[in-house]
Amino acid sequence: MENSTVIEIPAHWVKAGQGLPNVCAKHGEPAVAHLKTRFASKASKGAYAIGGAALAAATQKRVTAPAWPYCARCLPLRRAAQISRFAMFGAAVAFFGGYALMRATDNDAFLVVSLIGLVATMVTLLVNSILAKRITAGTIVSPDGHLVLVQDAHPAFDVAGNALILEARRQAGQAV
Ligand SMILES: [Zn+2]
Repeated sequence: MENSTVIEIPAHWVKAGQGLPNVCAKHGEPAVAHLKTRFASKASKGAYAIGGAALAAATQKRVTAPAWPYCARCLPLRRAAQISRFAMFGAAVAFFGGYALMRATDNDAFLVVSLIGLVATMVTLLVNSILAKRITAGTIVSPDGHLVLVQDAHPAFDVAGNALILEARRQAGQAV
């Protein structure tokens, strides 16, 4: 990750769907779609230690981008991620449902269903996290929620983003 470019974008730009480069953050190719995308800050390890996953999630800062740029290469990945989330949900249902039925009926066949569901849940979780990183270029929210950090930005996204920041500064300078 050392040679990747971290780009900071003001969170209010992202929320407004303005000031974003018209290229994809990951591949640097022209955006063909602008889609609603949610970003979150890293879960606090302290909160996790005290209150577990629920508290850690509650303390995360979130930013919803109404129009995040995606290129043609991103779109199939996004679709795969959606399918993978559905699969994860189904696998979790099989895991818990199979376990509950095994307890209720003493039928070992349901244990097999539950175990398959467990393995499938873990596999889809892994696939989800890999796809999420690929699609959003490791984009997270800063701990204070004021910035959106593109951690693994394509150079073309960097160039386009810097041009927009310079333009915004120039206009702000002219306004004074
Ligand atoms: Zn892309």
